Amino acid sequence: MPKKNKPNRNAQRRQKPTRGNSSLKAHRQKGRTLTPPMMNIIGDTLRTVAWERDSLPDYLLICYHVRAQTTDAFTNLDTLINLVDDAAGITYIPDRTDPATTATFDEDAVDTTASESASTEPEEETRKAYTFIGQLTQFEKFTPDQRSATLAALDERDAYEALVPEDFAHVLGMYADAPGSWLLDPWRRRGLSVDPDRAQRVLSDLLTAAGPRRSPTAIWVKAFMSNRMAASGQASFGAGAGSSMRLLADWPNYHNEQQRGAAEATISSMFNALQMFDGSDESPQWAEKFWRSNWRLFPCTHPQVRTQPVPSSLVDDDHDGDGDARSYWRQVTKAASDAVTELRTEFQQLASTTDPDLYNPDRYEVLTGLVGRTLRYLDVLAAHPAMWTMEHGAPLLRTFVETRIVLRFLANRDAPELYAKFKAYGMGKLKLLKLQIEELIDESDDPPAAMVEYAQHLDALVNQDIMEEFQPIEVGGSFAGIDTRKMAAEVGMETEYRILFQPASSNVHGEWSIIDENVFVRCANPTHRRHRILSNDLDSYAGPAFLESILGHASALVAEYESTTAPQRRTII
Ligand SMILES: [Zn+2]
Repeated sequence: MPKKNKPNRNAQRRQKPTRGNSSLKAHRQKGRTLTPPMMNIIGDTLRTVAWERDSLPDYLLICYHVRAQTTDAFTNLDTLINLVDDAAGITYIPDRTDPATTATFDEDAVDTTASESASTEPEEETRKAYTFIGQLTQFEKFTPDQRSATLAALDERDAYEALVPEDFAHVLGMYADAPGSWLLDPWRRRGLSVDPDRAQRVLSDLLTAAGPRRSPTAIWVKAFMSNRMAASGQASFGAGAGSSMRLLADWPNYHNEQQRGAAEATISSMFNALQMFDGSDESPQWAEKFWRSNWRLFPCTHPQVRTQPVPSSLVDDDHDGDGDARSYWRQVTKAASDAVTELRTEFQQLASTTDPDLYNPDRYEVLTGLVGRTLRYLDVLAAHPAMWTMEHGAPLLRTFVETRIVLRFLANRDAPELYAKFKAYGMGKLKLLKLQIEELIDESDDPPAAMVEYAQHLDALVNQDIMEEFQPIEVGGSFAGIDTRKMAAEVGMETEYRILFQPASSNVHGEWSIIDENVFVRCANPTHRRHRILSNDLDSYAGPAFLESILGHASALVAEYESTTAPQRRTII
């Protein structure tokens, strides 16, 4: 029976905080996978539209305008886009099948298809709107005639630089064969030489503002697209359309946050829905090209180095910054070393006054050895503050928690044969290693001397207590035939197992979450979409709290040892 009672669950349930995420209990388990509720409802069918990655590159010109003139971007931009729309003769084109293949701005195609469909079906149903919004891939589809008509119309109204400002020309000019790059022709004729620094500055500002999908700039762009779709009749709202339409019409002037929130949610979902039905192949291709090019076009930027705050109570007033930090670590390391020495002295006192049972010393040797091993680690750990982090200290934390579980498990069962099994399991593993090395030596014509020496060393170790011919090899995962999780459950240490042992194991095994947390930082160049780059910072977040936690486990181990061996202890007066 476990010595420790289970914690009172009712007591734990008091004052539950409200969270925005699904609890562990709300997940559904199938096989070895726990699935959150949302995924259980919609399954794998959800296609997420990644605004920044997949959509933004095509809306680069629109984003630029929205970013540059936030006050009346709508009217100015709408006027410009209408101007292009009129000049190129884009209004509605018939499209009965696949908008990706048949939608085109070629006026001839419009006429032909329109007359064919008009003869067989009512015009209302065959006419599908292809709304011009100003995506770069839409500009790219312009025929040569439409392109020259557009540039001429812009020139005539003196609106070319309004639509294609010089800053934007530097950005788009960075990409060879970018969709819509014919828009830069007048700039090129004027002798524009693309400046990469300027391009990076403008693009960084643009992506910082428009990248987050809920940023005001992103919402403005989506609202612009939704409004043009709604105005052209391509998008409709279905049930409850009245209130949604009123919300959109008022955008972005609302009297309260609730209205604004509702409008933004409508705009975002409308945008996402329209993106899903956008059959254009060019848009995703451009998105891929845009992001992949950025690594070659612009350099990575390391984020500012995280600095370790030093508690003011531990700082010498007389010293400068570096001196303060050195003094702080000197004091902390000294305190750690003192605490470890005290604990080891206490343990050595306990061990030397406990009857080892000279007839069968297995129990004494296993229990004392378990604690003695971990305390040896403590000395080294205390001297190296760089290891006082989960990143570097996790293997030790795992060792301490595991040793506590094993010690308590052994003490709880207190069966003499279990101590013998503990030893036999370890010796079996050692014997296996020795035999495998002997095999290697036998297979080799000229085995290295060091290997032969090593085999002799192992041979002596394996045969020190019991002749190896009487030692079976246990290939199971543990000496007790049950794994650490079950041992922990048996002795009431499930919480320590889940909260400490498991994450420390993830660390030891190098799972992705650990690599992500420790090895990388996010590139600070906004044109790089926050990809991961190697961190230059080796030992950030080191702190005495981690050492204190391990010291806590070490003290608990010594206390456990004290109570388990108490009946065998000789009192010294
Ligand atoms: Zn980068």
